[in-house]
Amino acid sequence: MLINTGDNVVDRFCPKCGGTNKHFFRGFCIECYTKDHELIVIPPKIEVNVCPSCLMFRIHGEWMPSTLENASKFVEEKVKPKQIDKVKILASPIEPTKNGALFNVSIAGYLGTDEIHLEQEVELIYTKRQCLICARKQSKYYKALIQIRPKDSDTTSKRMQSAFYFIRNQNRENAVKEREAEIFKFKKDKHGINVYFGSLRSAGSIVGQMKSKFGAEIKKSRSLFGMDRTGRKDYRTTYSVRI
Ligand SMILES: [Zn+2]
Ligand SMILES: [Zn+2]
Repeated sequence: MLINTGDNVVDRFCPKCGGTNKHFFRGFCIECYTKDHELIVIPPKIEVNVCPSCLMFRIHGEWMPSTLENASKFVEEKVKPKQIDKVKILASPIEPTKNGALFNVSIAGYLGTDEIHLEQEVELIYTKRQCLICARKQSKYYKALIQIRPKDSDTTSKRMQSAFYFIRNQNRENAVKEREAEIFKFKKDKHGINVYFGSLRSAGSIVGQMKSKFGAEIKKSRSLFGMDRTGRKDYRTTYSVRI
């Protein structure tokens, strides 16, 4: 631990080390005082959940990109300074470790009228936890289904294929704004192409566009498929799209 202090020297002596010509706080020299008092409290183990599939961090119950900036902010929030006024905490990454990353935490502030600066190394440990989106991608979950069907025998398979590409590309764009839209599966069978969506919003907007783009005839239906954790009914929406 490094200690830097300002330079207003007072003519006193420290009852612990006998030192004079030092900076004092609550009757002791700053060095003795910081040695004997815990000025920063850092939990022995700082853990953050990381999704092994998409590598996102779970911070305050939300999944967010695993940037060093987010990790540093998370570490800073875990550091609790005591008795230090006007405190500024800054965590900066040093190097990756076997289970996470090592950070240098620098704490600057005032003990009484003296400026102090403390530094400490802290390891952030990554613990694996799959995020909801990745879990849903690997399961049979979906929220909406678009059934692409030929209007009549004149509909070519090329037209069916281009409708599918249109849907896929639009959904990819939507996935940039909404993670649920990353859930996307499809299946071809003798009736046509079934496209499964994690995002109802994405599916709904694509269907709207297909009306003008392909002159599609659309039938919408909804079915109950279960309840969520809060007891609210969960529905799946099916769009039958004839082109
Ligand atoms: Zn002392
Ligand atoms: Zn994930």
